[in-house]
Amino acid sequence: MANQVFGEVSYSDDSGKFKKNTNNKDQWMRLVDGENEIRLLTAPYQYVTHKYKKVGAGTKDYGEKVGCTMIHGSCQLCDAAEAMEDDAAKRDAKAKQRWFYGILDRKTGAYKILDVSYAVYSGIRDLARNAKWGDPTKYDINILVKKDAAPNEYYTVQPIPKEPLTAAEQSIKDKADLEDLKRRCQPLTLEQQQKRLDRINGLVDTDAKTTKSVAKTVTKSAAAPAVELATDDTELEDFPPYDGEEASA
Ligand SMILES: [Zn+2]
Repeated sequence: MANQVFGEVSYSDDSGKFKKNTNNKDQWMRLVDGENEIRLLTAPYQYVTHKYKKVGAGTKDYGEKVGCTMIHGSCQLCDAAEAMEDDAAKRDAKAKQRWFYGILDRKTGAYKILDVSYAVYSGIRDLARNAKWGDPTKYDINILVKKDAAPNEYYTVQPIPKEPLTAAEQSIKDKADLEDLKRRCQPLTLEQQQKRLDRINGLVDTDAKTTKSVAKTVTKSAAAPAVELATDDTELEDFPPYDGEEASA
């Protein structure tokens, strides 16, 4: 019981027997077609993931995110991608870098987590590196989404003239849960990845608590993981929890 809370609590706090909900859909910023005005409240938090299409998936299935485990020495999804013969499918299946940001959604005024691919991240980075704009937490940005445009023109990151945060907005920023963002970037263990894949493929053992043990052994690798990263310009409508478990509620 490492997280016991003493003293004043709020009725809205989850505590005691209620499992903390780590994957509430409302906490995610969904980019819609057109304008998406936001204020970045945090630095980017980088992670590496695959887009996995379940066995026998149709062409309309865009896949689900499954974290890459190469940091632990092996990754069955990297191996599977490598074995693919079709170049486009291979590119699609490879591990990709993505980024989480804590943001203020200007439409609702609420704190949200934004999950972006390289297209949006690099647009923000360009602003950060621009001498006149600089630190992208100092002004709002508009992510213009054109769903009918060519893939490389889906996302445009536009800066909006600098305005300081109000006191209320600053307090949302001060409360941004950086530990939460950090946890979400943690690579899955081989076992967590296997569990997630089994669930996606409908292979979850419903009554047994025992998970099928992962046959693969972790090979120690002293060198940096050999993940070949590709850029990903697609957004997914799927927000897996960081621990590979299903959302609790
Ligand atoms: Zn991988």
